[in-house]
Amino acid sequence: MKFRDLSRQYDALQDDIERSIRDTLSSGTYIGGDRVSNLEKALAEYVGVSNCIACGNGTDALQLALMAWGIGPGDAVIVPDFTFFSSGEVVATLGATPIFVDVDERTFNIDASQIEPAYALAIENGLSPKAVIPVDLFGLPADYPEICAICKELGLLILEDGAQGFGGSIQGKMDCSFGDVSTTSFFPAKPLGCYGDGGAVFTNDNEWAALIRSYAVHGKGSMKYDNVHIGMNSRLDTIQAAILEVKLKAFINHELDAVNEAAKQYSVNLSLFASQYGIILPQVPSGTQSSWAQYTIVFDEGWMRDRLRIELAERNIPTMVYYPKQLSEQLAFVDRCLSVGSCNVSKRLCRTVLSLPIGPYITENEINSVCNHIQAICSTF
Ligand SMILES: *Cc1c(COP(=O)(O)O)cnc(C)c1O
Repeated sequence: MKFRDLSRQYDALQDDIERSIRDTLSSGTYIGGDRVSNLEKALAEYVGVSNCIACGNGTDALQLALMAWGIGPGDAVIVPDFTFFSSGEVVATLGATPIFVDVDERTFNIDASQIEPAYALAIENGLSPKAVIPVDLFGLPADYPEICAICKELGLLILEDGAQGFGGSIQGKMDCSFGDVSTTSFFPAKPLGCYGDGGAVFTNDNEWAALIRSYAVHGKGSMKYDNVHIGMNSRLDTIQAAILEVKLKAFINHELDAVNEAAKQYSVNLSLFASQYGIILPQVPSGTQSSWAQYTIVFDEGWMRDRLRIELAERNIPTMVYYPKQLSEQLAFVDRCLSVGSCNVSKRLCRTVLSLPIGPYITENEINSVCNHIQAICSTF
């Protein structure tokens, strides 16, 4: 069994993907062009925002947004402590200070009640608090109704890191539409992945969109050889756009439903014995839909997680630990970050979470088999 079986998706979509790639190869346009702008239009329409700018990857997407806001030394940006490295890295790349805050133990997403203390901590340290980067971890949109109310009150911008959340929604409003600027990643294993690196930025603000377009192409002005900012080179290849054109259709037509069905089946099966072994299943708040980038369970005790992981591996069932280390503990951030308290929930999750194999092409038999093995192994503890 594979952790996320991307080759099954390729088998299912092979004819369309190969046709789309061949068309691109014979078109003579390999960077930008109509394919990229048509994809941007389709993505913007699906997400429900007016501007989408495709770029090189999800990390660049975050960085481009912060650049458009002029964030740099002396500024503070609030980031959850339990996420992928990029969410905090981009803040430090620009010379600003990430302030890490704890997450909610049930949703794994930023604990909105920590934003105000983080704001105060920034001021105490002579920094100017500018923005929050909520992350839609494992596919679940963060608590935006709460986050937006607090940020409005404090005058903080919201940069939504939707790298894992693309396809999720709250009350029908799509993920990647909640931030002042939102971003996603098309890394192959994300909910919507290409066959290499890719990313996108979303915003309803036309001025920010124009700035982001400029920063993504060497800070171009009226044209490419007129440079008005120090920018970056961050573009989505036309071949990746050709692949995403096919994959976005499949994602909308059936993959998002299929992965939700898989998650439901996991929860139904696991709930028969989870509480007996101190296992907590992922929770989706009512009115919210996840795109299930990961199906992540939590153990009472770290040793159970570690032993189960080893024993599942012996039975050829791959699992992953997202994430083994909280950001505030990463060596790279030493002397470059602040944190509100010691983020004990994040610390505990790093020891107790386990992500199980999932994806739109996983079969019912495979899910049953994973669950049966988990039950059998836990009963020996
Ligand atoms: C994957 C990921 C990113 C970065 O995306 P890349 O395309 O790999 O640069 C950023 N944030 C989160 C939460 C991610 O999972």
